[in-house]
Amino acid sequence: MKRPGLRLRITALYTVIFAASFGVFFLSAYHLVDTQLNQDATNELTDRVEGLRGYLQFENDVPVLHYNAEIPEISLFVRNATRFYQIYDLSHGGLVTQSPDMRLLGLSFVPQELELSRNGILDVNTDDGPLRFLNTRMKSPLGTEFLLQVGVSLKPMRDALHRFARLGLWLGPLALVLAATSGWFLASSALTPVRAIVRAVRKLELSTLHQRLPISGTDDELDQLAVTFNDAFSRLDAAVGEMKQLMGSMAHELRTPLAALRGEAEIALLHGTSIEELKRVLASQLEEIDRLSRLIGQILTVTKAESGLLSLERKPVDVEALLNDLADTLSVLASAREISLSLESVSPLVASGDEQWLKHALLNVLDNAIKYTPAGGSVAVRGYQTANQVVIEVRDTGIGIPADALPHIFERFYRAESSRAKDIEGVGLGLNLTKWIVDHHDGKIEVTSHPGAGTRVELRLPRAGVS
Ligand code: ADP
Repeated sequence: MKRPGLRLRITALYTVIFAASFGVFFLSAYHLVDTQLNQDATNELTDRVEGLRGYLQFENDVPVLHYNAEIPEISLFVRNATRFYQIYDLSHGGLVTQSPDMRLLGLSFVPQELELSRNGILDVNTDDGPLRFLNTRMKSPLGTEFLLQVGVSLKPMRDALHRFARLGLWLGPLALVLAATSGWFLASSALTPVRAIVRAVRKLELSTLHQRLPISGTDDELDQLAVTFNDAFSRLDAAVGEMKQLMGSMAHELRTPLAALRGEAEIALLHGTSIEELKRVLASQLEEIDRLSRLIGQILTVTKAESGLLSLERKPVDVEALLNDLADTLSVLASAREISLSLESVSPLVASGDEQWLKHALLNVLDNAIKYTPAGGSVAVRGYQTANQVVIEVRDTGIGIPADALPHIFERFYRAESSRAKDIEGVGLGLNLTKWIVDHHDGKIEVTSHPGAGTRVELRLPRAGVS
């Protein structure tokens, strides 16, 4: 099932939280008002009882009210206080006096009920609404016990409570509608920048990768989101730029040998007279085709390495065995070029890494040393271990690298002018790949060179078993 939109979820959450808060607030307020009104009723009752007791005197051992009816306040007080009023003689439980309202309500109690409610508060439901009574014992000078019972109507209090509850029932749904509407608008305005980001990202194409989302400068979460997107765009832009550059360089590198092939074929077709001559052209073309295959192979390896899909192994690699193998393989090439190739290594020489990729890196460096060293020169390979590194040093007495070319030798398709001029075969991808491999082994590659005297390449790789 599809989840409802974020705006709807925020609104719903906001409304639920608001409803819960309103409910808790209202119930607490209701409880508070109820307690206060109850307390007020009891206080008023106590005041009435105390006031009345002041006016009660005993005549012939019977309590009688004595007050000055001329004074309006006293008269009003006594009238109010005696609306629900009766006195029992506790010696026999009989009524001594009773107010007309009490008589009308038929509220007289049998002695057992009086026992239960003595000196206490008693709430009674009557036809005239709820009443609260306060029972107080009195003793006449002759020792007869009486029970004074004064009541007050709880109806005004209950009515006030009902009005309060009704107000809550009206206000509740109204506040809920208000909360939902304001929640909806709040969520909408909070999500407006997010929608702007979504729109901008949707419009994104390869040609518009350079565009950036606007930053408000408040450094809030939305700004951080926009900054994150912009960072991602920048990385994407850089990666696409690199890809474009790689494709451009590839096209350029492939065009020259293809043009040479075409030129040779054209000349052979136009001017080729003998089978021998055609054979010679075909042989030269085969060489060129081999060069092309090697170039494509190298491009494939670089692309594979940079695809990010490769995971390099981290296993102990016997670098000594690897160097011996490579020296064996390359010795034929070296002696064909009249170059002395020597290998000196201190056992053990075990690096942590991926054997195939490390072999590739070492082959590139050794191949370069032989390639860029003229006949009669030498290539010396030395391997040794330090506390936590395996060091491989390759020295040659070759043509060297000019100082201005040295910072660029790890760039893709870069070739020093001196090597191009001497027509030495190469495409400028070997060191780029070697650096990629060394970097991905957390190693280091350093090249120092003296033009005309030779070059020294030093590879430092992590030793196996050292974390
Ligand atoms: P290439 O295929 O041209 O050898 P590399 O990436 O292996 O490509 O090397 C880049 C450039 O660095 C070479 O074209 C060359 O100019 C220079 N270079 C690398 N190694 C050596 C070396 N041992 N002696 C002289 N120049 C070197």
